Amino acid sequence: MNNMNNRVPNLGYLNLANGTAIFYQLTPAQLVEAAIKRNEGVLSDTGALAIDTGEFTGRSPKDRFIVDDEITHDVVWWGDINIKFAANKFDALYNKVTSYLANKEIFVRDSCACANEKYHIDIRVVTETAYQNLFVHHLFIRPEVVNPEGQPEWTIIAAPGFKANPATDGTRQENFVIISFSKRTILIGGTGYTGEIKKAIFSVLNFILPHDKQVLSMHCSANTGNRGDTAIFFGLSGTGKTTLSADPERNLIGDDEHGWSDYSIFNFEGGCYAKCCGLTAEKEPQIFNAIKYGALLENVNFVPGTRRVNFNNIDKTENTRVAYPLSNVSNAVIPSIAASPKNIFFLTADAFGILPPISKLTPEQAMYHFISGYTAKIAGTEAGITEPKATFSACFGEAFLPLHPVAYAKLLGKKIKEHQVNVWLINTGWTGGAYGTGQRMKLSYTRAMITAALNGGLDNVSYHQHPVFNMMIPVSCPNVPDEVLNPKNTWANAENYECSANKLANAFVKNFEKYAAYSTVEIINAGPNTVVAV
Ligand code: ATP
Ligand code: MN
Repeated sequence: MNNMNNRVPNLGYLNLANGTAIFYQLTPAQLVEAAIKRNEGVLSDTGALAIDTGEFTGRSPKDRFIVDDEITHDVVWWGDINIKFAANKFDALYNKVTSYLANKEIFVRDSCACANEKYHIDIRVVTETAYQNLFVHHLFIRPEVVNPEGQPEWTIIAAPGFKANPATDGTRQENFVIISFSKRTILIGGTGYTGEIKKAIFSVLNFILPHDKQVLSMHCSANTGNRGDTAIFFGLSGTGKTTLSADPERNLIGDDEHGWSDYSIFNFEGGCYAKCCGLTAEKEPQIFNAIKYGALLENVNFVPGTRRVNFNNIDKTENTRVAYPLSNVSNAVIPSIAASPKNIFFLTADAFGILPPISKLTPEQAMYHFISGYTAKIAGTEAGITEPKATFSACFGEAFLPLHPVAYAKLLGKKIKEHQVNVWLINTGWTGGAYGTGQRMKLSYTRAMITAALNGGLDNVSYHQHPVFNMMIPVSCPNVPDEVLNPKNTWANAENYECSANKLANAFVKNFEKYAAYSTVEIINAGPNTVVAV
């Protein structure tokens, strides 16, 4: 493990220099070697590095804190999502983490976020493990020139082996992600789940861009057609952002985090982080083929006796993942910038089977659904639990939004009007009944509906209005059977459908109450019809 060019980064400002073996800006090959040597992981048969992230195989939102300081105090939307952390506790914990790292090998990488140079921020990431550094290499933007002697704008320190003491350190548990805007530092400990690193910097950008730069930050994927027509796909985890943005007929901008400035959108990241559960070359060829040399596989299992990944094995977690740089995808746009979108898709995985698989929203309905951020969580992969739960996460990404959701919604509303964007609601979830009775919408149908929306295939067809939610539903769509389009027709019993639709409408109305004061009458009226409780 040699430092690239033997350059030593400036870590003086971090109080990190003493007695530590520092590996700076290692190449993916060097990081893979280091990870294997350190027993962090093994190679798969396609040359990907397969590691386990340890106790945490997903994010832990209740352990993400923001330091309450002069920058954040009056601006952050405090509560269960943005949990306050005392500045003195942050400083104390910072010293503990750096002392912990002092006698260890550490991996330092200079990288950046935001493909649009105007909004570019430099990030130095210090990781305890080689695999986390490989993740940063893949997911963040790889700068052409680095400045090891300089002090970057932001620093992330990630020490999965460090465990906090909640009684004295001010954390909830041993694991934590703490963002300090005054120190421009993110401290991560007790968790080896790499998604925490990317989503922590996403939270930072969700503060800086709208608040300081009037740029809308979005939890969405994006791609463009050959005529430069951009589409973006908002959606909560598991609704299909990564899957649906990977379209061989279109060019990939990014799969998760984007900004929308005056005339263009830009990726915050330089790579993708795709789910591997049930992955097949036939259904998701682009993701499947991206798992080549140097890609980082997380928490997967091999077919016994081989190094071939069994993508159906979810014994460690349902949230198996692969991280790879955008350059692993043949049709990626680098630098990842594209024109303002012509089409916006809101993805929802409705486990109640109520929402149509594709429908068109008015600008007011778009605002209503954006603020609502509906999806459904399936009670679990645990045996016997079949009852789905409606969840609302404002702006399809509430967990990552330091500002009040209405701040983002207002920016989006303005842009939808200015650019006359078509907004579609896509249900990638259940059809023919709720989870347990119906089945998930076929990926090939969802893809066909999106293709039709993008290519004008739904411009000249008839529409009818949903009786409860009021969005317009196309009666036909190329390459999709007509009967799939109207959810009511897919249910065995129409009365059951109506009853469940009313229940879901009530959940929408109840959830929206907390936003009513910040909203307009037009937006409130764009919600579902008020129904008598059933
Ligand atoms: P995250 O924010 O966690 O990255 P995501 O929005 O990117 O989540 P995906 O990784 O695209 O979500 O996950 C969608 C999953 O659902 C994939 O595993 C995909 O194969 C599966 N799937 C099944 N049916 C559909 C469908 N009709 N549309 C989209 N995805 C589907
Ligand atoms: Mn994704």
